[in-house]
Amino acid sequence: MPDADLFELTLEDKLYRTKWENEGESHITVKTDLCRTCSGKPCLRFCSGGVYRPDPADPQIVTVSHENCLECGTCRFGCPPKAITWTFPTGGMGVKFRYG
Ligand code: SF4
Ligand code: SF4
Repeated sequence: MPDADLFELTLEDKLYRTKWENEGESHITVKTDLCRTCSGKPCLRFCSGGVYRPDPADPQIVTVSHENCLECGTCRFGCPPKAITWTFPTGGMGVKFRYG
């Protein structure tokens, strides 16, 4: 695929180019009580995989789609109240890039 065409892809298209392998447990946890006092909610913008989304039932907290994680590590530093606990997936699991 030519590089220019990559700009036409949606996030979902791009995430289809990766594969997530794990043992069924999330490597990310969030203390959602702290999200209620986080006015800017920067995780909704800094995560390139769109892992964090407002909870439809309670928009003051976030949901976590850990299988979209690209392991960039940003959320270990980008959450102002340090509500996110992120660890590397264990046992060689985690993201696999299908196209290198
Ligand atoms: S940046 Fe941290 S505290 Fe703020 S909404 Fe996201 S996970 Fe919650
Ligand atoms: S490590 Fe990167 S891709 Fe994974 S959840 Fe954190 S910010 Fe998102």
